[in-house]
Amino acid sequence: MDPKYRGRVAPSPTGFLHLGHARTFWIAMKRAEASCGSLIYRDEDLDFNRCKSEYSQAALEDLKWFGCRWEEGPDKDGPYRPYKQSQRLDYYLKAWKCLKEKQLIYPCTKSRKEIQAAPINKERQENEPIYPINWRPDPEASKDILEPDGYNWRFRVPAKKKINFTDQRLGPCEFLSDVDFGDFLIWRKEGVPSYELSVVVDDAAMGITEVVRGEDLLVSTARQLLLNEAFGFTPPNFYHAPLVVNEEGARLAKTVRSMSLRELKEKGHSPEDLRKSQAWCLGIEDTL
Ligand code: GLU
Repeated sequence: MDPKYRGRVAPSPTGFLHLGHARTFWIAMKRAEASCGSLIYRDEDLDFNRCKSEYSQAALEDLKWFGCRWEEGPDKDGPYRPYKQSQRLDYYLKAWKCLKEKQLIYPCTKSRKEIQAAPINKERQENEPIYPINWRPDPEASKDILEPDGYNWRFRVPAKKKINFTDQRLGPCEFLSDVDFGDFLIWRKEGVPSYELSVVVDDAAMGITEVVRGEDLLVSTARQLLLNEAFGFTPPNFYHAPLVVNEEGARLAKTVRSMSLRELKEKGHSPEDLRKSQAWCLGIEDTL
């Protein structure tokens, strides 16, 4: 039992939450409870193009309806206010400056299409494209840029570094930088930090000791461990939950309404019944 356990639920308000989100957050809550710890709620609303305040509101309502509870969040007091990422830009800007001073990031002017078409990516059709190392600009070239906006900034990943961690559910995991992923985004030219940067900064600022999230984010953990190291933070533990799939075995998406908590509620399902449903139980045997 760890009395200092601090977990978090961190939905992105880009649509209505579905049963998969509810299950991951339920697991997060149960793990916090089992350690007599606490849970914070963080609204990850940085993507101005996709996030909507109505979805932020709906996420809070739907999760409460489902039975999820947290000790700190947008509608509660806590030492880490605000809990909406869109109100925490100062923290991310400070982090950008720190990485820039260490010459660990660079402005990138290549488009996604150009990167995809690079020779290194010809063989990697299924995997995410890698930014070619020989396209990296000279660090001196950006020394006079004092603000991040206007460029996509990438993190210079170390050459073929093994990143090992023990996932609390999956056991030992290993990734190789430069091979499993390349120089990743830190800041977007539209003026917002990337997911990887904001999550690492907030998890550290909010004292998170364990991150519970879907296993689709496993490779992100390797990137985030590199960022933690760059900042000198002690990283949290990680627990990657199995994804809920539909009857055809496909992952649930926010764009498909059928499994949204809203719709399930409107159809008369109760949270208790949903927690006994086949979709909920599939793949979860080893979890709860
Ligand atoms: N906000 C992210 C999402 O909804 C999750 C981030 C995380 O748990 O690290 O996909």
